[in-house]
Amino acid sequence: MTTLLITHAYILTMDDHQREIPDGGLFVRDGFVEQIGPTSELPATADEVLDLTGHLVLPGLVNTHHHFYQTLTRAIPAAQDANLFNWLTTLYPIWARLNPEDIFTSAQTALAELALSGCTTASDHLYLFPNGSKLDDEIAAAQEIGLRIQASRGSMSLGQSQGGLPPDSVVDSEESILKDSQRLIQQYHDPKPGAFVQIVLAPCSPFSVTSDLMKQSAVLAREYGVHLHTHLAETEDEEQFCLQRFGHRPVGYMQEVDWVGGDVWFAHAVWVNQEEIGVFAKHHCGVAHCPTSNMRLASGIAPVKEYRAAGVNVGLGVDGSASNDGSHLLAEVRNAMLVSRVKEGLTGYSLSNDPNRKLMTAREALHLGTRGGAAVLGRTDIGSLEAGKCADFFAINLNRIGFTGMHDPVAAVVFGQSVNADYTVVGGRFVVREGQLCTVDQGRLIEKHNKAAKRLLAD
Ligand SMILES: [Zn+2]
Repeated sequence: MTTLLITHAYILTMDDHQREIPDGGLFVRDGFVEQIGPTSELPATADEVLDLTGHLVLPGLVNTHHHFYQTLTRAIPAAQDANLFNWLTTLYPIWARLNPEDIFTSAQTALAELALSGCTTASDHLYLFPNGSKLDDEIAAAQEIGLRIQASRGSMSLGQSQGGLPPDSVVDSEESILKDSQRLIQQYHDPKPGAFVQIVLAPCSPFSVTSDLMKQSAVLAREYGVHLHTHLAETEDEEQFCLQRFGHRPVGYMQEVDWVGGDVWFAHAVWVNQEEIGVFAKHHCGVAHCPTSNMRLASGIAPVKEYRAAGVNVGLGVDGSASNDGSHLLAEVRNAMLVSRVKEGLTGYSLSNDPNRKLMTAREALHLGTRGGAAVLGRTDIGSLEAGKCADFFAINLNRIGFTGMHDPVAAVVFGQSVNADYTVVGGRFVVREGQLCTVDQGRLIEKHNKAAKRLLAD
């Protein structure tokens, strides 16, 4: 039994009442929040007591879409100014050289960046397994760093010779994909509250797997009660691909292969119409909104306001580290708020006198990054700070130059320049303390990562 007491912080709970507690605190026992409230009402002591006067404490951010391995291939000149399909075809041959050690190292780097940005649960989508790489490699990395992981067993089975986008060298047989998916679920998936590892089945995208693999993955996932994830409606050329190959728009194709339900979430979902938003709402599909990647690849702006109005769960994702090219989830919260305002501007906001037409607020953007993300992943044990939930939170010291003159402690961290967390705690355990990672040696990780990145691009 270990206990942790946080005192004298400004707490954003993200509970159903949107409660904020000035001079608040948390009492944590064995990884879960036991009590939350004004400091004066909490136990006087614990195994560890941390006075966070002058800090904002928020629920840990939940990352709903990422490709950790891409930290090795950021800002490659030939892929800097390309659209999605050209970006992918430039990078596929480089990714084909990855080895198991690269998967481990890149996952640690991405998770380290995420932890430093306030993230406590990360979903990762690994969809190529060259040279003996396995999903196990990134799970091991997450276990060492100390973040929760929704490890998505991705897959690609539709190579160029069959009309797909990826080269045949990075696709696998469907039989081996399904066999490995089953092994991973049996070996790692923990359905209990407080789980550190959950498995997700995640064929990569409509243009890289067959309809048969989509259907069989859904059957397998439902047999074990694990969730399903894929890229969908990211760009206009994907829409054309789906119409030509499957005779459906992307969302219609998902209905065709039985990929709608509360156990499914889609990355991006930018190019959808009102009727398709209705399909997501009716079937409780979730959306991972990745604003930075969508801007970086000029993919478009997802209709987040319309999703929320229809009751669709929306979370945030940093997306692959080579289409961002960072893994800072608090920055994603900021960009989600800002890009939603760009969309308003493009659709006549300044000319509108409608008082009901509201801009996305800082708190709404933070809701996407916390409660929204938890709902998308199907987790009720994370996303808010309440008694009985996981003790996952981060703290930011507001006494810094960029926050001077801010008149709202919560809005400060979204409107202001995105900063790193001073403390990140996952299940009651410190992953970041006084701004430094405390579960891995950051200097050694950077050195190892840079060496691997250089090797991938050599010859
Ligand atoms: Zn992605």
